[in-house]
Amino acid sequence: MSSRLHVDLDLIRKYDVPGPRYTSYPTAVEFTERFSHDELLRDLRASNRSQRPLSLYFHLPFCESLCWFCGCTTIIGRDRDRADTYLDYLDQELSLTAKELHPGSRVVQVHFGGGTPNFLSPRQIARLATMLREHFSLEADAEIGVELDPRRLTLEQVEAFRALGANRASFGIQDFDPAVQQAIHRIQPKEVSDRATEWIRRTGYQSLNLDLIYGLPRQTPASFARTLELALELEPDRFAVFSYAHMPRLKPAQKLLPMAEAPSSEDKLTMLKQGIETLTERGYVYIGMDHFARQDDELAVAQRARTLQRNFQGYSTRAGVDIYGFGMSSISQTTTHYRQNDKTLDAYYARLDAGQLPVARARFLSDEDILRREVIMRLMCDLSLDYRALSKTLAIDFADHFAPELAAFAGAAADGLVNVDENRLTVTESGRLLIRNLAMTFDAYLGKAERHFSRTI
Ligand code: SF4
Repeated sequence: MSSRLHVDLDLIRKYDVPGPRYTSYPTAVEFTERFSHDELLRDLRASNRSQRPLSLYFHLPFCESLCWFCGCTTIIGRDRDRADTYLDYLDQELSLTAKELHPGSRVVQVHFGGGTPNFLSPRQIARLATMLREHFSLEADAEIGVELDPRRLTLEQVEAFRALGANRASFGIQDFDPAVQQAIHRIQPKEVSDRATEWIRRTGYQSLNLDLIYGLPRQTPASFARTLELALELEPDRFAVFSYAHMPRLKPAQKLLPMAEAPSSEDKLTMLKQGIETLTERGYVYIGMDHFARQDDELAVAQRARTLQRNFQGYSTRAGVDIYGFGMSSISQTTTHYRQNDKTLDAYYARLDAGQLPVARARFLSDEDILRREVIMRLMCDLSLDYRALSKTLAIDFADHFAPELAAFAGAAADGLVNVDENRLTVTESGRLLIRNLAMTFDAYLGKAERHFSRTI
């Protein structure tokens, strides 16, 4: 059954303001370098006594060449030995962290991101697998995902990650048009993605996600329509279709892009509409915030069951977990704090050499932060707020505590983005496309931080 989502571009234009993506709340701009490592360790140990399940993230930063649109924390080069050194330090970080964890802690989710995780050779991937299992107990049905670059992928790497336990793969595609690929410095013929997809299916991965980007130089609505059709031929279980955000001051690689050839904002909006309407017409559910999943994919199932979660990796089906990030720049999350590792290799190595967890910035959450985080996450995942249920979970009178915020939804209600009654706020189909604008209503830190965010579209 397909259910095409209609995109109203006038509404999108009206709400196109800078805003966070709420993979955390408070957002990363609120993290600070002024924190005590001792206090952080105390908080980590206290949080761990609860034995909440764990979700692990590994940042593997190496890439052979730079894609000019990239905003990730990467290290460019071909020297594989650097990855051996990195794994040495990762092992130290795992040892330091694991000794703070409750021995009964269970891992329900692992994600390898980058950079390019398949920069690692099969031997290095096998070493990573040994490190992982040495320090952690993985649940038999743990969800283990890996981001793969089809251009550099070999069948041996696919098999090595599968032997590690990986059961979900994600490919960066971005665009299939050769002219666009040239403009973004990422040449990836369709046959390369076909071959990589065949390997993923043949080796028994349960799920495949494809990343696309619209708003890149030389893209047109016609070329993007063709990219969507070619991507659909690969029959992925999920799609992430991102709007290109040009922020060269924060992401220096982007200065290399020929932005004179970028599509106009009207063409970019047309591509947004094409992406949503095409994929929803072809049987994918729009989960929210650029993500689509097949009707029977567990993301779509979890959204219907109101058990979907949102964290640094986007949407997730694993509820009630603490996230432990490993590697440079990675972010961790417990019920009471966020912490982020050093963003450069030198700083990350130096702190581990000193026998310290390589944390550069942190944020302890106030009681009010914890309330607002839950409300924002429920709104973004469930697309509704049930006041009675939230009053119970948060031990407050929800409608009373958030009366000013609920009153502020009058404009959104008049624009048809939400329906509000005395018991519940429900996001409409049009509102889904503007979910982060709606979530911003509950953000107590907006204003001073807005300049750090890309536009909502
Ligand atoms: S887009 Fe991916 S492969 Fe390209 S530079 Fe960024 S992290 Fe590396």
